[in-house]
Amino acid sequence: MRGRITRGIASFYYVHIPHQGVYECKAKGIFRKEKIQPLVGDEVEIDILDEENRTGNVITIYPRQNQLIRPLVANVDQALIIFALIKPEPSLNLLDRIMVQYTVQELPIIICFNKTDLVEREEVDRIRNIYSNCGCEVIFVSAKKKQGIEMLTKVLHGKMTAVAGPSGVGKSSLINLLQENVSMEIGCISQKVDRGKHTTRHTELIPIDEETYIMDTPGFSSVEVPFVEKEQLVTAYNEFLEYEPQCRFGGCAHINEPNCAVKDAVSEGKISRIRYENYVSLYEVLVERRRY
Ligand code: GDP
Ligand code: ZN
Repeated sequence: MRGRITRGIASFYYVHIPHQGVYECKAKGIFRKEKIQPLVGDEVEIDILDEENRTGNVITIYPRQNQLIRPLVANVDQALIIFALIKPEPSLNLLDRIMVQYTVQELPIIICFNKTDLVEREEVDRIRNIYSNCGCEVIFVSAKKKQGIEMLTKVLHGKMTAVAGPSGVGKSSLINLLQENVSMEIGCISQKVDRGKHTTRHTELIPIDEETYIMDTPGFSSVEVPFVEKEQLVTAYNEFLEYEPQCRFGGCAHINEPNCAVKDAVSEGKISRIRYENYVSLYEVLVERRRY
């Protein structure tokens, strides 16, 4: 039987088999010899030992598509970054830092702004403009009014998505809503997220439907500038791409160089000034860091 590891506790792995439920498995000794450890997110083959008690053995780990370091998890398809439009006021610099973190890991990013019910239409448009050319899908929702949730469900469907964002933005509210829509279908495997009791020290996949999982990644309130080369930073600024070839110098960093097409595009309002300023501030941190 083929399934997905949703949780690992001590030497037990909980494997979700679509349409069958969850089995508590041990990994056989062969993995220890080969020095590969099963990870949450792994697609595995299991032998069922006891159908009634739902126990089994993990016998094969299928090749991994990727492996994140923090949290340690395999086969992540994409990242969903959640911010609120207000309460708390979004730090767009933090948003960019999280984007850099995922971009360098080559994960597609979806940005979700929650709490549309608390702001005017103009504010939604202002934020939409800033990120209109960033290369990521941007979704506006209200957990409170249950608006935009179908859109969210659609982008998540069939994927394994890492969810990040500062606290207070409505992550739990949104995750509960996503589970609510489908919990009947997946019955007992859908454990509701209860952050009160739940210690998020163990990474855990939350099944949304038979082939859709999300993974909450805590601790994103104060992400430091990711440890990337300063030359890599620009990969998270998709809107610079079309102007870059017109910069006078190859390898232009778009900071102090003369005849920089990116800076010109900022002056002409073709690139969001906020995005550009965040780029500059992150760039400076990376330059400073390299000095020591
Ligand atoms: P988390 O810390 O990101 O998991 O955020 P929570 O889901 O716990 O929500 C934080 C607070 O924001 C709670 O008081 C929620 O009721 C509130 N909240 C969540 N979503 C919305 C929304 O769409 N609109 C409004 N007005 N409040 C929301
Ligand atoms: Zn330039």
